[in-house]
Amino acid sequence: MNLQPKTDNKQPGKVDLRDMSLSELSGWASSLSLESFRARQIFRWLWRSDVTSFDQMTDLQKELRQRLSELSYISSLRPEKIERSQDGTRKFLFALSDGNHIESVLIPEKGRYTLCLSSQAGCAMGCLFCLTGKGGFKRNLKTSEIVNQILAVQGALLPDEKLSRSSASGGLTNLVFMGMGEPLANYENLIKSLQILLADEGCGFSSRRVTVSTCGLVPQMDRLGKDITLNLAVSLHAPDNETRSFLMPINRTYPLEVLIDACRRFPLPQRRMITFEYLLIYGVNDAPEQAQALARLLKNVRAKINLIPFNAYPGSEFKQPPPEKILAFQQILVKNHYTTMIRQSKGADISAACGQLHAHAIYAN
Ligand code: SF4
Repeated sequence: MNLQPKTDNKQPGKVDLRDMSLSELSGWASSLSLESFRARQIFRWLWRSDVTSFDQMTDLQKELRQRLSELSYISSLRPEKIERSQDGTRKFLFALSDGNHIESVLIPEKGRYTLCLSSQAGCAMGCLFCLTGKGGFKRNLKTSEIVNQILAVQGALLPDEKLSRSSASGGLTNLVFMGMGEPLANYENLIKSLQILLADEGCGFSSRRVTVSTCGLVPQMDRLGKDITLNLAVSLHAPDNETRSFLMPINRTYPLEVLIDACRRFPLPQRRMITFEYLLIYGVNDAPEQAQALARLLKNVRAKINLIPFNAYPGSEFKQPPPEKILAFQQILVKNHYTTMIRQSKGADISAACGQLHAHAIYAN
């Protein structure tokens, strides 16, 4: 489906209200000598009601709306293109105001609507199996560009998909930062967007339903654990340093022993576990000995494991293991008492599967 191209409506000289956390908005409102409750009132309009103009903020006086519109603006994203997979997955392409493009992926599953968010245009991490990584890094996304993905996808849901109107997420149930980019490499904007997502006056998501995935930026993992409570996923993909450094250059900076120590000290609420993502690649990391090594590596970590059979894309040098190898790998982990799921990547036919997002590679100037 091709839609009217529309970028965020950046207005030079004005501040974008959707770039501000509630505390920043409060500081800004106070600098304008507005009453203290105004910031909360405006914040709710921005995120709970998804307004696009100040005229829609009907409980603000006309003079105040006029003043706000002279000093600030409300950015938004509109999908430039939506592709639908045979399995129901939808991929949204967004054009940013500077010509860069990003993608978000909506995965409907058994009453759950999970949105996979991008945090950067491109990615600098260079993981060998990842099409986003192959396209290189463009820039970090602003807070508004991260959170506006949610409002834009919510707006594109069909009426019967909007299961819940209890939050601005209306219909979306889960958020995962597993789209384009390494979220922890855009730390400040990630944290601000999480504060908006989790705030009652903001999008109102429960922290149990928000997951940040990292390739293993250890210092930022430590910061994240102190700054906010949510679910953590770690892209592991290999049980030994040689294989992991081959697949993921970040492993040369933070090798497995350093990464796993960081996982052990990551503060988790009771009964929560870290999800370890393991892309199974034929002949690279799918041997029974590697499953045994993975079981040893994660000993004493509160871990559950997602095995993701690799989805080949045109030009990829890797292949998916045959089903019997995938099952044998899983059985070894299960015998070692790990909760281990085989997760078929969704949306492979529209290049929306794990590691296949590549909007910038195709569309960027
Ligand atoms: S897998 Fe994630 S961290 Fe690695 S290159 Fe791709 S987007 Fe970046």
